Amino acid sequence: MEDQTIRVELTNSKKEKPDENHLEFGRVFTDHMFIMDYAEPIGWHDARIVPYQPLVIDPSSMIFHYGQSVFEGLKGYRTETGDIQLFRPEKNFQRLNHSNDRLVIPQIDEEFVLEGIKELVAIDRDWVPHTEGTSIYIRPFIISTEPYLGVSPSKHFKFIVIMSPVGSYYKEGINPVKIAVENQYVRAVKGGTGEAKTGGNYASSLKAQEIVEKEGYSQVLWLDGMERKYIEEVGAMNVFFKINGEVVTPQLNGSILAGVTRDSVIQLLKYWDVPVSERRVSMQELYEAHQNGTLEEAFGSGTAAVISPIGELRWNGEHLVINNGEIGELSQKLYDTITAIQYGKVEDPFDWIE
Ligand code: PMP
Repeated sequence: MEDQTIRVELTNSKKEKPDENHLEFGRVFTDHMFIMDYAEPIGWHDARIVPYQPLVIDPSSMIFHYGQSVFEGLKGYRTETGDIQLFRPEKNFQRLNHSNDRLVIPQIDEEFVLEGIKELVAIDRDWVPHTEGTSIYIRPFIISTEPYLGVSPSKHFKFIVIMSPVGSYYKEGINPVKIAVENQYVRAVKGGTGEAKTGGNYASSLKAQEIVEKEGYSQVLWLDGMERKYIEEVGAMNVFFKINGEVVTPQLNGSILAGVTRDSVIQLLKYWDVPVSERRVSMQELYEAHQNGTLEEAFGSGTAAVISPIGELRWNGEHLVINNGEIGELSQKLYDTITAIQYGKVEDPFDWIE
């Protein structure tokens, strides 16, 4: 990007802030947003921070028809001294560019947009909640805005960042959840868009999610799209199992999203000298480990919940209860350590904080 300035237009009617003790995920947005445009041949231009407002977009814009879009999700955390910290934000912008590549969206300048986000957070800093466990959720996204119904890559885009104050994911401590293994629907296939963060992946996951929720399960465990044998992800999280002292997580294979929390968990386990491997894990292997008593813990990892223990897995009519449905020792330690780093309560040996 040639022009590296960010124009700022502040609102003159600040909104009322929500009650910090009753924050819902993603319903209330801060006073400002970051936005920049892309057009050929100029490239990305006109970066600006403006009052949060609706967009005016032509109904023929490609985003409404063919879903050429990508997004990210990260959080800002308030420390005890009142500073605001971001957790590994550069990873989110690397991943955004990776998603851009898959969706034929032009690359963004990662350092420049990170500066833009820091400025946006500084302007809306009063929106970052103070209550224990709360944070500001930051949602960068790109939409294709060329007014054209042909199926081809758009020549116009908008990059936008909005922010929403969010409550603690766990109100009364970490809660193990019940998960149903999904044998019919799949989230992604090799060669598809599973390792990109694009809206279509989430649209196609809604059906399975709706079915299992009615049956009393909180998420589905996604299996591979070819054979429905190998484990991929849990809901919109990566997944880990502790089997006989070793932690295993499905290796990135093209259809799994490379989670920032997943990478952080792997790095921490290595730092602690806990054996960890990224490899294929089949449902059959997991079932056998459960039967012979070596399936010690299972948990999902993601920005929203950090660590989400799995208390029970339903598979082919069997109910596999893991660790008596309680939080495992390692799951708890990972949760405590990662959140302590995010909120600046302990040393950050990995330089994860900005
Ligand atoms: N998988 C999917 C499909 C997701 O949407 C997310 C959330 N971004 C994750 C895994 C976890 O990624 P992260 O740890 O970066 O939040």
